[in-house]
Amino acid sequence: MRALILGGTGEARELARLMMGQGWWVTSSLAGRVSNPHLPVGEVRIGGFGGPAGMARWIFENGIEVIIDATHPFAERISTSAAEASRATGVPLICLHRPAWTPSPGDKWIPVASMTEAASVVARDYHHIFLTIGRQQLEPFAADKHNLYVIRCVEKPSVQLPARHRLILSRGPFDVAGEKELMVGNQIDVVVTKNSGGPLTEAKLEAARSLGIPVVMVQRPPLPGGSRAYLVHTPLEALRALREV
Ligand code: NAP
Repeated sequence: MRALILGGTGEARELARLMMGQGWWVTSSLAGRVSNPHLPVGEVRIGGFGGPAGMARWIFENGIEVIIDATHPFAERISTSAAEASRATGVPLICLHRPAWTPSPGDKWIPVASMTEAASVVARDYHHIFLTIGRQQLEPFAADKHNLYVIRCVEKPSVQLPARHRLILSRGPFDVAGEKELMVGNQIDVVVTKNSGGPLTEAKLEAARSLGIPVVMVQRPPLPGGSRAYLVHTPLEALRALREV
C-alpha cells in the first residue's frame, strides 16, 4: 500500500517510521522551508505541489492510496490542498494534528484569533515581549516602534522586524529552567505563542506560569471546511485509522 504523508512535524516522522515497520510504502512531503530539516525514514519529496490540483495530479501519478495530513496545525494552505485533493481523487484523507494545549491552574492566557490581534494587544499593554511564533508571521509586530521584542526562531526572518528587537536563533527543545532564565534575563512581561500543542515547546508555558507572566495564545485555524477526513491526534491513532480506511 502506498501512502503520502504531508509532514514537517515530529508526529509525521514518527508515523513514517511506524508505517514503514508495517510494510507501507511511504513518501513524506516537506515544504522545503528550513535548510537542514529533520528527515523522516523512507522516501522524501521536497517542495510545493502547485496547489490542490498539483497535489491531486501527484497523488494520481504516484498511485497513492491514502493521504495523511500530519502538517503543523497552523499550516492552513497545505491542509486545504490535502482536503481538496482528497475530494478530487477519492483517495481517503487522515488528518493527524497533535492535541492543542489547554490552560492549567495559574495560567494567565489571553486567547486571540489572529497574529494581528496578538500584535495590537501586546503593543498596547506590554513592553518586553517574547515572540515564539516562528519567523513567517512577524510582520504585524513591525509597526511597533516603542516596545522591545525578543524574537526566537529557527532561522533568520526575512520580513521587517520591530525597531527594538533581539533575535535568538535556536531550534529547541527547550527546558523550563532555560525558558525562565530567558524571560527573567530579558525582563519579559508577556509571551506570544501559537497554540501548536505538543511537549517539545511546552516549557515556555510552564515557565510563564511559574513567573506569573501572561501568555497571548493565538488559537488554531479551523480544519478546512467540508473536509471528510478522519481526525486523529497521535501517530498510533493514525495507524488505527489506516486499518479502517
Ligand atoms: P502553508 O502555509 O500551509 O503552506 C504554504 C505552501 O507551502 C503550500 O500551499 C504548499 O505549496 C507548500 N507546502 C506546505 N507544506 C508542505 C508540505 N508538507 N509538502 C509540500 N508542500 C508544502 O504551510 P506553512 O505554515 O508555510 O508550513 C510549511 C511547512 O512547515 C509545513 O509542512 C508544516 O508542517 C511545517 N511547519 C509549520 C509551522 C507553522 O507554524 N506554520 C510550524 C512547524 C512546522 P503548494 O501550494 O505549491 O503545494
